Amino acid sequence: MKIFSTLRLTALTSVLLASQPLAAADRFADVNITTQQVTENVYMLQGAGGNIGVSSGTDGTLIIDDQFASLAGKIESALRELGGDRPRIVLNTHYHGDHTGGNAEFGRTGVIVAHNNVRARLLAQDELPPSALPLVTYTESVTIHFNGDELALIHLPQGHTDGDTMVWFKKANVLHMGDQLFNGALPYIDLPSGGSVDGYISNLRQVIRNMPSDIKVIPGHGPLADIAAVARSLQVIEDTRRIVVSGMEAGKDSAGIAEDLGDYADWGQGFISIDRWIGIIKADQAQRGALK
Ligand SMILES: [Zn+2]
Repeated sequence: MKIFSTLRLTALTSVLLASQPLAAADRFADVNITTQQVTENVYMLQGAGGNIGVSSGTDGTLIIDDQFASLAGKIESALRELGGDRPRIVLNTHYHGDHTGGNAEFGRTGVIVAHNNVRARLLAQDELPPSALPLVTYTESVTIHFNGDELALIHLPQGHTDGDTMVWFKKANVLHMGDQLFNGALPYIDLPSGGSVDGYISNLRQVIRNMPSDIKVIPGHGPLADIAAVARSLQVIEDTRRIVVSGMEAGKDSAGIAEDLGDYADWGQGFISIDRWIGIIKADQAQRGALK
């Protein structure tokens, strides 16, 4: 009898698991794509998942990241409202599904460009169709000439993941940082995918050091940003890490450390709560220790 109910439970679980793609599609049914103009022909689209950068002009449409698969139709409509078409070129800032979910659809007619490690990590997800994979990959950087601008794709090593790229529109003076910037929130740092807190910090420093001080910044998540927002994010990450590490050294538990973080608790939002951030710092410290 017991075995029978276990079997029934297993069958029910299978049904639930099988229906998950449907549930995931419904999750985005009410999502609207909003468009914000950044410069003359550069835009930021927001819906669910990572912010999309758009270049729309005489050469056609180029997009940076493409959110979730089921939003592809709505994203395409938003691009058409800008006078554009389906994207000729799709850039992926990194491999996470909330930035590459639309690849399968847009890759049918456009060329996807990304860092080598994005292709490798997408290839490892064997359920993806070939159209979801980058056709052009690079190790350090590549330049794309489009709509009268020069787009420098620059690899940011081992920060958010091991395959992140920032996209610098040199003429428009706009930078898409992907998930190397969560504007106004604590970041997710994907340690199992080759990310590290040290790398994340040094990438933020690189942006502040090398980019024009008046550049407009499209973050992976959160509202349109600037260099001051990048500097603020760097300061919060460094401060909170220092507090968490000294709490760990004093033998405090997570609740005690959270107390020490005081007002920084407000930076724990959505996916990355303050507890999750403490967990990331702890795991990163353990990883650093293992490397020594
Ligand atoms: Zn990400």
